[in-house]
Amino acid sequence: MGSAFEAVRGFYEQAAEKLGLELSLREALSTHAREVSVQVRVPMDFGGFKVFRGYRVQHNNARGPFKGGLRFHPKVSLDEIRTFAMLMTWKTALMNIPFGGGKGGVQVDPKLLSEAELERLSRGFMRAIADFIGPQVDVPAPDVNTTPQIMAWMADEYSRKYGPNPAVITGKPVVVGGSLGRDAATGRGSAICLERLVKFRGWNREDTRVAIQGYGNAGSWLAIILRDLGYPVIAVSDSKGGVFAENGVDPKAVLNHKKATGSVVGFVDAETIDGDDIIGLDCEVLTVAALEEAVTGENADRVKAQVVLETANYPVTPEADPILAERGVTVVPDILASGGGVAVSYLEWVQDLQREQWLEERVNSRLSELMGAATDQVMARAESEGLSLREAAYLIGVERVAEAEVARGYR
Ligand code: GLU
Repeated sequence: MGSAFEAVRGFYEQAAEKLGLELSLREALSTHAREVSVQVRVPMDFGGFKVFRGYRVQHNNARGPFKGGLRFHPKVSLDEIRTFAMLMTWKTALMNIPFGGGKGGVQVDPKLLSEAELERLSRGFMRAIADFIGPQVDVPAPDVNTTPQIMAWMADEYSRKYGPNPAVITGKPVVVGGSLGRDAATGRGSAICLERLVKFRGWNREDTRVAIQGYGNAGSWLAIILRDLGYPVIAVSDSKGGVFAENGVDPKAVLNHKKATGSVVGFVDAETIDGDDIIGLDCEVLTVAALEEAVTGENADRVKAQVVLETANYPVTPEADPILAERGVTVVPDILASGGGVAVSYLEWVQDLQREQWLEERVNSRLSELMGAATDQVMARAESEGLSLREAAYLIGVERVAEAEVARGYR
């Protein structure tokens, strides 16, 4: 498989070309400002220590501090982190929040660590990157396999060196400066986005069957919120397999089952299916909420849904895009559909800087405004210029960053 970064850079290059960006600016935006690669040593519970590789990549900060999550996953690589750092730049620009883009992670399977080892890993990684981040420099957050608890350990570790400052990292538990509504924000943002599209098409919620690939934080919250709104969530899956029920599953019950057993598989009120089969399931909306490259040139022709909602980062490859377009499938791109998390991270950062705690309704209504505006802008641009939603989203994101660079005089 080719480089994910080269693939995602292709989406950017298309937008840069359409916008007629000047060559040196085009090059500046297609490469990263800084890449930090660190060794993390973790003393193990039963003696000795293990060495892990961690990264923090900062892509662009023309619009504000670098911003983006930290993931703990065995597949983490520099190429992968570069891909997502760049995606974050376009995502924060599209959401119109005052941040640039960054991403980080550690190559590790956190499921193989004890709680105490996980804490030592989180703290060790934060010590290694602390000099390169900060509330006005680069603000990390949760991502795949990283939780509010991990953010709390990292914030605490940072504060040992630089003094307490909750705005250094977002996605923290509420008791240490987290925001109400942050946990559900990525799922809620995707739901807001889908709602706009469904309304635009004149569909009924009750007849809009949704299948969700990926049942982590984003996927499970999205399922819960959509079901509360009246959408039938007919199938969900995780890395171990999937479950299907014609009349819909109860997402909260599935989540409880997953918490108890480690997987959605075996949930009583549903049929077990192969995890991969969810891609080709008969439904109106397929949500890809797990890892990158879920829909590819190999399996895109199996998609039966009319809408693919990219709640994860880079879940659909450039090879899959034309195949889906040919089949009349609308893809709601990641930099839009997954923007709810970072939007509420922004609201958390604002609250932390002001030492305020907003009510959840206030957070959710600001999220609706930010997400609603971005969705409307993307749909309008796609309509007026005859573009796909991805092309329109990239045009808006790249254009905003380019404008900021020009206004600043490139430094
Ligand atoms: N990891 C999330 C994303 O990919 C959130 C990032 C953030 O809140 O900074 O958008």
